Amino acid sequence: MRGAVIHAPGDVRFEERGDPRILHPTDAVIRTVATCVCGSDLWSYRGVNAVEEPSPIGHEYVGVVEEVGGEVRQIRPGQFVVGSFFASDNTCPNCRNGYPSNCLHREPMQAEGCQSEYIRIPLADGTLVAAQDTPDEAHLPSLLACSDVMGTGWYAALAAQVQRGQTVAVVGDGAVGLCAVIAARELGADRIVAMSRHKSRQELATRFGATDIVTERGAEGVARIKEMTAGIGADAVLECVGTVESMQQALDSTRPGGGVGFVGVPHGVSIEGAELFSSHVAVRGGPAPVRTYPPELIGRVVSGRIDPGPVFDLTLPLEQVAEGYRAMDERRAIKTLLLP
Ligand SMILES: [Zn+2]
Repeated sequence: MRGAVIHAPGDVRFEERGDPRILHPTDAVIRTVATCVCGSDLWSYRGVNAVEEPSPIGHEYVGVVEEVGGEVRQIRPGQFVVGSFFASDNTCPNCRNGYPSNCLHREPMQAEGCQSEYIRIPLADGTLVAAQDTPDEAHLPSLLACSDVMGTGWYAALAAQVQRGQTVAVVGDGAVGLCAVIAARELGADRIVAMSRHKSRQELATRFGATDIVTERGAEGVARIKEMTAGIGADAVLECVGTVESMQQALDSTRPGGGVGFVGVPHGVSIEGAELFSSHVAVRGGPAPVRTYPPELIGRVVSGRIDPGPVFDLTLPLEQVAEGYRAMDERRAIKTLLLP
């Protein structure tokens, strides 16, 4: 089969790779129906994360089960499934506590290289969530979003403890930030401030439920949020970027007693203890426990309640994966959907 391999920063190739096989009796192999490029894949593409050797890449996917190992009980060939970016057993204490992305037996799906025609899924019963029926083609992008970005935005809102009636600010207008706007709306926020400078992303944020747009960044952005909130800051701030600046902006925009949910993978971020101490801000983040949400999110997608699909503003055949990376790197696309 063929799939994406990153050889060096800026160098993603679509090439022949070995066919995935069942290696453990708890594995499944799926035929990929749709996959995509993640903002976090760009960390390697841009050379921020080292690329030591040619490596398969990609960790978001929906597909149809082809084959299962002898110990797989719930997942069956022919099912349409949504997976997440860590394989997890769904039975260990961390999974039972709601943190499958910290599963004691987790395996990164990035290592399987999911921008490919077929994927081996470790711990298939724990990792995959089967849709009840084969979905409508129109729902495909939104279901694929549940494999990472929609679940990550959802977690950002839960981690920041968004409550009905609150004012929520979202830092970051990438796919995750836009999905975080949907999550804040679903959790009942009254006022949702999207911090964005890009017209097309502002429009999408508004369509997803943002009530206000703030174009300023850094201290000016913080000042704008405070102006809108009687000088105290937002009840909840969802940090969806992962830079030093975005994290500072999030912490400084939150009111005393409010919460920051941070889901942008931190690069160089450190939090000053005394400052955090005196702010009374609650901070929770981490790789989103995306596996927890599809049972609920799939229902909301299929019923038409949420539609994160438009975060994919570029669709390409999988063999043009390199162009998918280029378009996102050059910010010509928010997120690239790839069809094998
Ligand atoms: Zn587990």
